[in-house]
Amino acid sequence: MCPGCPHRPVFWVLKKLKAIVTGDIGCYTLGAAPPLSALHSCLCMGSGVTFQEGLRHALKEGKIVGVIGDSTFIHSGITGLINSAYNKVKGVIIILDNRTTAMTGLQEHPGTGRTLKGESTSQLDLEKLCLACGAHTVDIIDPYEVNELENILRKRLAEENLSVIITRRECMLLSKERNNPPRYLKENCNRCGVCLMIDCPALMQDEEGYIVLNESLCTGCNLCVEVCKFQALVKNAG
Ligand code: SF4
Ligand code: SF4
Repeated sequence: MCPGCPHRPVFWVLKKLKAIVTGDIGCYTLGAAPPLSALHSCLCMGSGVTFQEGLRHALKEGKIVGVIGDSTFIHSGITGLINSAYNKVKGVIIILDNRTTAMTGLQEHPGTGRTLKGESTSQLDLEKLCLACGAHTVDIIDPYEVNELENILRKRLAEENLSVIITRRECMLLSKERNNPPRYLKENCNRCGVCLMIDCPALMQDEEGYIVLNESLCTGCNLCVEVCKFQALVKNAG
């Protein structure tokens, strides 16, 4: 995944919660790759939702979360969500809403409010759609708010309902938003390597185990700051 990708915090939190994650087709399928290794199945478009239902029927225990992109959900995920609600499935479906069809070249889709020609058109309301499909609750959250994301995920997973969480932030390839790269305080770094587990291409380790931050790649998303518990990576207000 790209530096600053809004899907990265979602997979980091899912990994932290030891969730079983049923995935789908999109750039977020890369959440399966190590070191994140936080996506455990992927078959076809829509299977992020339908595999969640299947596993929920098969397994009595465990946190089972389905993930699917916004464009893929509109293409093939809606029928699966209707079926899950109809069959009283418990669990969480996350719609990774980056406001585009990123993997195939940033095409528009019915959720963006623009046609493929870039003309303004009707915009599908994902929240209302999911409620109409039978989801008990729909939360919309900025995935960069990592603590809030973790809290809402914990809460929804503890409920006996089917819920949808829409993690909404524009794809970094579209967004103009950039913040200063974090400051790296080498004297605080214990070389634990935890920040490398988020798999950001802007972070590397030198031969002594210290962190090298590639500022030309970094978008300033500050996920690594959230992850480092030793204040070796700190926000840089500039
Ligand atoms: S920057 Fe923080 S998380 Fe990364 S290796 Fe150093 S102490 Fe560990
Ligand atoms: S702030 Fe950290 S996690 Fe975000 S792009 Fe820069 S190096 Fe990567």
